[in-house]
Amino acid sequence: MPLMKSWVESANNADRPFPLNNLPYGVFSVGDGDRRCGVAIGDQILDLRGLSEAGVISFHGMIPSEVANPFLASTWNGFMELGPGLWRWFRETLQKSLAAESTKADTIRPHLVPQGDATMHLPIEVREYTDFYAGKHHATNVGTMFRGPENALPPNWLHIPIGYNGRASSVVVSGTDIVRPNGQTKALDADMPSFGASKRLDIELEMGAIVGTASELGRPVTVAEADDMIFGYVLLNDWSARDIQAWEYQPLGPFQAKAFATSISPWIVTKAALEPFRTSTPQREKDLLPYLREPGPMLYDIDLQVTMAPKGRGATTITHTNYNQMYYSAAQQLAHHASSGCAMNTGDLLGSGTISGPEKDQRGSLLELTWGGKEPLTLSTGETRTFIEDGDKLTLHGAAKGDGYQIGFGECTGTIRPAPKFPV
Ligand code: MN
Repeated sequence: MPLMKSWVESANNADRPFPLNNLPYGVFSVGDGDRRCGVAIGDQILDLRGLSEAGVISFHGMIPSEVANPFLASTWNGFMELGPGLWRWFRETLQKSLAAESTKADTIRPHLVPQGDATMHLPIEVREYTDFYAGKHHATNVGTMFRGPENALPPNWLHIPIGYNGRASSVVVSGTDIVRPNGQTKALDADMPSFGASKRLDIELEMGAIVGTASELGRPVTVAEADDMIFGYVLLNDWSARDIQAWEYQPLGPFQAKAFATSISPWIVTKAALEPFRTSTPQREKDLLPYLREPGPMLYDIDLQVTMAPKGRGATTITHTNYNQMYYSAAQQLAHHASSGCAMNTGDLLGSGTISGPEKDQRGSLLELTWGGKEPLTLSTGETRTFIEDGDKLTLHGAAKGDGYQIGFGECTGTIRPAPKFPV
């Protein structure tokens, strides 16, 4: 499918992230105004609350009369609950209304807001957050560093998409400053642990899948059903304190090392927009149990990069990889998550796990890029880094590249602030 032309001129640029083919969903405000649901088109945001209040958008006949217009709310949760049939209808309506040949341009144009005037917020109320560990290159690299090459992949890894339950309270929108965590660490040669600011603060380049429709407690879902439950995807940076993690992680997995912040990009790119970029997970090294087998391609070809900028200095690209490197798809992760009967909710967020490619410059964390801090990176400014320093700005970038257009995710960025003095 080629670039779809819109009467919003800025959407017709092949090199920009938000053409008519994309239409990602976010929540924005202007000045001191309320949070509103909006759609990115070119360099504008279409104000869905404004359109609803003006009567241009109506769900009459589409949803039960007792259900309020979901765009009167300040998150996308209400819209997501309405399910895939309504998602499809709304996206088709939007695409028709914004297409170059639409007759509605004059009615809709007053409800466009320049992106430069808007502040972005979390697009959803995050109900619960689960983070997985589904990148084989990442798991092999980290396992080699932590346990040696012979024990790199845990024995369950090729059979289970491993995950841990994270904290929804720590999920923040791109642009939010990240406070360096304090925590307990122990040097290998020390008798006693100590408490203080993490010295090995890291990123994890991930995709986040957003669960749109719920599953019932006690009822597993198939991988195909899980795929239908997913509303869309965001970029996700699972900030990690490696020194805290190394001391605390056995036997129950990460706890405080990953509980201080997780950043997501503000625009939810819908599964519908990513449809042309579906691709299969890699060849299985061991057959998966039937409940985890995919009925079709459920991963996506999404180009990913990370840049690092010391305070007040230019940015350097430190890694370049692709979401198609994952061993498990989000649909497989979601099916596994519900396999015990665990209820999944509208607004649940699933982190993919760190996305590393096979090459050294395709690694999705500083832990891997600098091999545990032993091989510092040199930035274009001439400075070197092993882990993140205060004032550094880390930004994830992502886009699916089509023929003459792209499906961009925008940015997922965060700047590190010093750790609080403790005890405060
Ligand atoms: Mn992670």
